[in-house]
Amino acid sequence: MTCREGCRKFYVFSRNWRKVKPMKERTLSIIKPDGVAKGLIGEVLNRFEHAGFQVVAMKMVHMSKKQAEGFYAVHRERPFFESVTDFMSSGPSVVMVLEAENVISRNRELMGATNYKEAAEGTIRREFAMDIEKNVVHGSDSPETAAFEIGYFFNALELVRL
Ligand code: GDP
Repeated sequence: MTCREGCRKFYVFSRNWRKVKPMKERTLSIIKPDGVAKGLIGEVLNRFEHAGFQVVAMKMVHMSKKQAEGFYAVHRERPFFESVTDFMSSGPSVVMVLEAENVISRNRELMGATNYKEAAEGTIRREFAMDIEKNVVHGSDSPETAAFEIGYFFNALELVRL
């Protein structure tokens, strides 16, 4: 086989492979300090695993105020910025990267609306949050946000390839 034929075969193979293998997506999830304090790590992870999300990185962090401000920099101008960054730096959180098809929107469905009072029945926030701010979980809201947020906590070596 010439090099040209080999390259062509590889090209056809990789195009077909992409058709049969659905593209997986990644998102950053955080079990916030209130969730950790209430002993909800297992409960939240259980829901993720039941949904078929794979954990490709995970660690516990206690963010400093500065680190929380960096994480929520997009909300710098919002009236709750001071308060939410105080909260996010008030105790340990579990940060993790989840992988699955459409995991960004599916994770947000599992989480429920920001305000637990508006969250659908059965969602994490509806069941466990008691406050619009202390709402147990965070999940990236777009692929661009996910890329920033994953890079904020993890380097490439810490992300397992499945
Ligand atoms: P999320 O993507 O559903 O987490 O919501 P946002 O990105 O809009 O807000 C980020 C976080 O800021 C929320 O999860 C809450 O912890 C907090 N937050 C949002 N809105 C409010 C608010 O009106 N008051 C307070 N105190 N905190 C808020």
